[in-house]
Formats: sequence, C-alpha cells, structure tokens
Amino acid sequence: MFTEASKVKLGSSAGVYLHIPFCKSRCSYCDFATDVFRDQASVQRYVDALCREILSEPPASAGGQVDTVYFGGGTPSLLDPKQAEQVIDAVRNRFDISRDAEITMEMNPATVSAGSLAGYRELGVNRASFGVQTFNDRDLKLLARGHDANDARQTFKLLRDAGFANISFDLIAGLPGQTLADWARNLDEALAMGPEHLSLYLLEVHQGTPLAEQLRSGRRPMPDEDAAAAMYELLLDRTASAGLLQYEISNFARPGFESRHNTKYWRLEPVYGFGVSAHSFDGVNRYWNERDTARYVELIEERYAAEAGRETADAASEFVFLGLRMKEGIGFDEYHQRSGFDLFERCGPELARLIDAGLVEADNSRLRLTKRGMLFSNDVFVSLL
Ligand code: SF4
Repeated sequence: MFTEASKVKLGSSAGVYLHIPFCKSRCSYCDFATDVFRDQASVQRYVDALCREILSEPPASAGGQVDTVYFGGGTPSLLDPKQAEQVIDAVRNRFDISRDAEITMEMNPATVSAGSLAGYRELGVNRASFGVQTFNDRDLKLLARGHDANDARQTFKLLRDAGFANISFDLIAGLPGQTLADWARNLDEALAMGPEHLSLYLLEVHQGTPLAEQLRSGRRPMPDEDAAAAMYELLLDRTASAGLLQYEISNFARPGFESRHNTKYWRLEPVYGFGVSAHSFDGVNRYWNERDTARYVELIEERYAAEAGRETADAASEFVFLGLRMKEGIGFDEYHQRSGFDLFERCGPELARLIDAGLVEADNSRLRLTKRGMLFSNDVFVSLL
C-alpha cells in the first residue's frame, strides 16, 4: 500500500475513472466492455485486480488533487458496498481526493436496495448516474434492458430516500419505431420526476449486436434520422422549460449540477482510468487498458499493469472537437496557446462557410455551435479538422 508520501501528485483538478464491467444481462444494443455477472467470486477477483492496478506505479504526471471519482460500467451498482469501499480505499491511498469531490456511481434500475444505497452514501458517493433509458416498457423489452419502467420509478424513490440530491438520468432517443409522441411522453415523465441532470443518447446500432441483427433481418424498423432530429429539438425546448440548462450537446443540468467529471473530458483535463478497457489522459498522452476482462485480470495479477496502447494526444484538434461540444464553445486565445496557430488563419474559409450555413457563431473571443450546429456537429468537426 502507498504511504502518504508516495501518493501521486497530479496537476490541479484531475479525475479518476473506475470501470466495473459487470451487468445482470446484456442489452441488445450494447457495444461496451461488459461481462454478464456470474458470481461474487469473479467480481471479487476483478475488484482485487482493480485495486492492485490503482495501487501500482504512479502515472507520469504529478502534482495536485483529484476532485472527481467516477464508477462507470457496466453496472457498478452490482458491487456490494464492501467491494465499493475496497475500491474507494485504494483510490484514497493512491490519490489526494479533495473534500468536496464529486463521486459518481452509475446505477441501473432494480440493482440497488435501501441498504446498498446507504452503504454507498457512507463511502461518499454523492451523485447517481441513473440508467433509466426510457419509461416505455415496449422499448425496454426491445433493448433487453432487464428492467421495466416501474423498476426505474421505484429505484428513483430509493435513491431520493437514501439522500441522493444529485441524480442524473440517462435517456435514449431514436429507437426503432419510436414516435415523437412516445418521446414526448417519456421526456415529460422524466422531467416531472425532477432530476438534477439529464444526458441524452441517440441510439447507435453497432454491428454484431442482437439489435443490429433484428434490424438487418427486418424484424424491427430502422431508426429514422429525421425523427431523431425532431426529438432532439423537443428535448431542447422541454429541458429549458423545466429549468435544466444545456451545457453540452447532450447534457442538461440545473445550475451547479453540471457533471464535473465529464466536463474534464471536454476541457482536456487529466483523467486517470483504471479497470478493463479504461482510458486515461495525463494532459499529454492517451493510453488505454486491455478490453477483455479475463485477460485484464490475468495481466494485472502477473504484471500489475494491463496497458494495451498509448498515443500522444493531438491537443489542438481535440481542443476543437471536444471544446465545441460545450455550450461555452472554445476561446481563440486558448486555441492559439495550444496549437501555435490562429484559428481564423488556419480554417478561415471553412469557418466562413460554417457561419454562413448557421452552424457556428463567433464573437471577438469565442467560437460556438449554434442550435442547428449541435444537430450537425459531426459535419462541423469534420470541416474544421
Ligand atoms: S446496462 Fe449498459 S453496459 Fe450493461 S449491458 Fe446494458 S448497455 Fe451494456
């Protein structure tokens, strides 16, 4: 175990990401690094490996504190509180976690109890990222989510009863066969519950998933892109009316409840990832771990490390396509500092075209996506890179 003196010193405001790959079952659209939960013994072996990785050699960067910790997955709420405590203890032994740190855990409906939530709260978990996805039972079946809408309602109540005052909902739009009216009902129910934060995901169909097969065989209608765009517009209107302000293309929050952890990714701040398939960024390099859980555990047990690749980040390009995702956009001065170039000198004709097309807007100091630009953000990024 690391002593106080050997704790890593990071640059200011780094984050820690912890990947917990287990899920109760596999959703039909899922392309993440996940494993179906088999037994507690294999989860414990994974937790031991994860802690071993956290406590292993420090990353290259040094100085400062960690102010966000994020349990992502998978379904981290399948950890029992003792396992979560083991992981948090490892993080605390390895990093200086600030007193006011945001500690988030992704939780899925019907995977927690009053007891487990009380345990997480005692460990300092103060934010729940709640995988609602949809309140439509037909769509939940299509997605093979393993829970129904009532489970989501009951779990939300458990979260509030346990004292979670910072809850984010994940919702998916653009589902096969989903109408604008379906989406409006879904959104209205979610907003009426009063979450502090909402993240939207437009369904992506990945080759090799059961959903892709259902679509290919014609058993399900293909998602409609125009309908997805209309759903996005409706989302912008309804979240604004409900007091959730947009701060990123797909993220909305009451003032002060923006995700501090995810903001680090968009602002290119360091985040150290641990666990299978976890990605890290130390301010200069990006590196990532082995994607297969069994292999990850073996590697950690044998060599205390499971790095599968590494590259130097293209800071100027990443600054543009990650920073533009934020409502605040990017500053011209900061672009110059990062790249050594003036953005208008480098991309003048493209910027003029994008401004004419109503996709971006600029003032003296910053460049931002317009509402229309958010709908076609990929086209904007391709033009500018
Ligand atoms: S809960 Fe999330 S990570 Fe787990 S199988 Fe479903 S989509 Fe994948």
